[in-house]
Amino acid sequence: MAILQTRGLDKWFGGLHVTDNVDFSMQPGEVHCLIGPNGAGKSTFFRLVLGEHLPNGGAILYDGADITRAKSYQRIRRGISVKFQVPGIFKALKVRQNLQIALQDHLSGHSLNEEIDRLLEFLKLKDAAGQLAGSLSHGQKQWLEIGMAIALKPKLLLLDEPTAGMTPDETHATGEMVQALNADGVSVLAVEHDMAFVRQIAQRVTVLHFGRVFAQGTIDEIVADERVAAIYLGETGHA
Ligand code: ADP
Ligand code: MG
Repeated sequence: MAILQTRGLDKWFGGLHVTDNVDFSMQPGEVHCLIGPNGAGKSTFFRLVLGEHLPNGGAILYDGADITRAKSYQRIRRGISVKFQVPGIFKALKVRQNLQIALQDHLSGHSLNEEIDRLLEFLKLKDAAGQLAGSLSHGQKQWLEIGMAIALKPKLLLLDEPTAGMTPDETHATGEMVQALNADGVSVLAVEHDMAFVRQIAQRVTVLHFGRVFAQGTIDEIVADERVAAIYLGETGHA
């Protein structure tokens, strides 16, 4: 059974068909990358999965349940977590305090501190624990974002452009974090532009173009697909 599946998912913003009859599926334990040019509808797809937007048509199934109309908090409670493109960390608070906020409704006292320490270690932020989140490097901010998203141990983690603005070393370290989470049983769906990173983490890749599923396959199949290469021609930014 798929951990996440959409059937005929449709979303319109006014006259713009942002998600066009999307049939998507990924298996539990999979790392899946969602790629496609800017404006293809990738972030909107994430917001539909989290319930921040309701679709105009189609269905979303998660872990065997129809969550199409479920509230966001119900989806989060069932184990879906998202790191969005737009930063959601508290810049005026210390790194440690950010993680505390993510965890404090679930843990307290010694176990809260222990879990924060474990996360800081995992995120390579131990030495920055007392720094204001706003003073972190771009890559470290992304890691803190990921930390906020994984604090409650999701089953399905959606990462929207996790390596944007990172150095190659930071990108590689992020790939290792994703692999470690995946080895722990977390299914991961990541929007990503860096093909080396996609190759590092993804078992399968879906290409979105103008809101439609344009291609699906392994990274090797996608890279070899001339139709996919063609949709990036004329893009001045990253692939
Ligand atoms: P991507 O993440 O692939 O770059 P998005 O999902 O952010 O694409 O956006 C897809 C299209 O939908 C874009 O044309 C964008 O301008 C439009 N869009 C996104 N969110 C909204 C919104 N809340 N209202 C209106 N249009 C939107
Ligand atoms: Mg986006």
